[in-house]
Amino acid sequence: ATPMSITAGVGRAAEFGVLVKDADALQKASTLTTLVFDKTGTLTEGKPQVAEIHLFNQFSERQALSWAASLEQGSHHPLAQAIVEKAQGMDKVLVENFRTLGGLGVSGQLAEQSLLLGNQALLEQQHIDCSDAERLLTSQATAGMTPVLLAVDGKLAALFAVRDMLRADSVQALQRLHQQGYKLVMLTGDNALTARAIAQLAGIDEVIAGVRPEGKAEAIKALQVRGEQVAMIGDGINDAPALAQADVGIAMGGGSDVAIETAAITLMRPSLHGVADALALAKGTLRNMK
Ligand code: ADP
Ligand code: MG
Repeated sequence: ATPMSITAGVGRAAEFGVLVKDADALQKASTLTTLVFDKTGTLTEGKPQVAEIHLFNQFSERQALSWAASLEQGSHHPLAQAIVEKAQGMDKVLVENFRTLGGLGVSGQLAEQSLLLGNQALLEQQHIDCSDAERLLTSQATAGMTPVLLAVDGKLAALFAVRDMLRADSVQALQRLHQQGYKLVMLTGDNALTARAIAQLAGIDEVIAGVRPEGKAEAIKALQVRGEQVAMIGDGINDAPALAQADVGIAMGGGSDVAIETAAITLMRPSLHGVADALALAKGTLRNMK
């Protein structure tokens, strides 16, 4: 077990487009049992698009989309980008008292209306009646889309179904990881139905959904308490605490700087094959040293 061969392993990883921070990271990566994946931007491409718009209570599509986009201009969430993009070329209005409601959505005020945009949990928390959208919410989520609801003055106005495609090679990469013997878990703030639909497509074993940003690190800790040795793979700012809590944090190269700074391993290619390459290399390197 010479430090020399670990250094060589770190160097070899770089040839695969995998940046390993130090020898300790490679050592820990050789004994993992469970791999936890963020959904948006990690399993999926992270470029969501509005696939459907449904209207309620006499609101027009133009009105609803323009207001939703005016709100989302202030957000950095991938869902926000989808809505702003869909409203391209439309007039935006000035939103006051803009607020980001972590894990739920956004809110703000126009001169005469108050706006709320986000998931069902957010609208229910504000006692807004979503029963007219109930069936659509279920069918969209079951189809792997994320429903985003707009409420105006406490009334449901629109439902945007947002679709984010799995990365083209996620299924194959996860198959390799299964063959390598890991348990595969998805950890997401999105709702359980959407999460399960994507998990099934991807070949994930276990889903932890509806997790608030603060809860992601806790979820990793809970797996560790069960005796698992855990890698967390993520791309977002809100993945950073979970990346830090994990035995090995792995960041997608295209992701946020905070995720990359926190992670022990960074994938330079936007592909989960990098995870399979890195872990196989870690095992190979450490095995050779025994
Ligand atoms: P994740 O990064 O795992 O998707 P988040 O905590 O960022 O988790 O978001 C959880 C959920 O909160 C989203 O799936 C969405 O329903 C809602 N949400 C968060 N931010 C926004 C936003 N800017 N616009 C609409 N919905 C949002
Ligand atoms: Mg993400």
